[in-house]
Amino acid sequence: MKQYDKADDLLYAGSSDPADLLKWAMDKFHPDIALACSFSPEDIVIADLMLNIRKDARIFAIDTGRLNEETYECAEAMTNQLGMTMEWYFPAQEDVEALECAKGLFSFRKSLDARHECCRIRKVEPLARALSGMNAWITGLRRDQSVTRTDLKSVERDDAHGGIVKINPLLDWKVSDVWVYINEHKLPYNRLHDEGYPSIGCAPCTRPVKHGEHPRTGRWWWETPEDKECGLHVKNWNI
Ligand code: SF4
Repeated sequence: MKQYDKADDLLYAGSSDPADLLKWAMDKFHPDIALACSFSPEDIVIADLMLNIRKDARIFAIDTGRLNEETYECAEAMTNQLGMTMEWYFPAQEDVEALECAKGLFSFRKSLDARHECCRIRKVEPLARALSGMNAWITGLRRDQSVTRTDLKSVERDDAHGGIVKINPLLDWKVSDVWVYINEHKLPYNRLHDEGYPSIGCAPCTRPVKHGEHPRTGRWWWETPEDKECGLHVKNWNI
């Protein structure tokens, strides 16, 4: 794996069009670059853009074992319609067994540390495995999704994953831009979005939001906004 200190590998001088940024990134890093897909509408837009650039674009997903049925249906519809192969990653079996035997099935509700422990086992460690050997990864993060995401850059060094490059092509898109693309291109999406779920993670940690509430209110709703990350995009987590 290469370390990216700064210089030309982080220097993107192209347009703000996500397709241009993705083409630059894939020309530079493929096959050692992949989209981390959680089946959000943002990720589905990016997958479509990537596959339009090259059919062998790499896309991976993490099956935490606690996803909604609707998310699996969305995954199947997406892979079928886009004609792609998803690279699936799972949590380490022995870690899930140890967690559930020792602490039960809902330990994540007991404290922030307990929630981080579950996210670390089910998301953070599989992500680290997926990224090992990569030189860059792509996310569907948008700046206005959360107070934890306001200072992101569209091309940045990811110190939490060995200093590889992290590409955020939709950083400055609004949610309305995402849905315009989904509808214009007739792409599949998670049907929970039609049932009041603007942001979808694991089933027991996601609930619908009321009209006017922040879209991420339904994620880990028992925590404060500053704590609402799963560890995938946090710089100072110990994995
Ligand atoms: S979102 Fe909830 S169930 Fe999923 S890994 Fe995190 S704590 Fe565990």
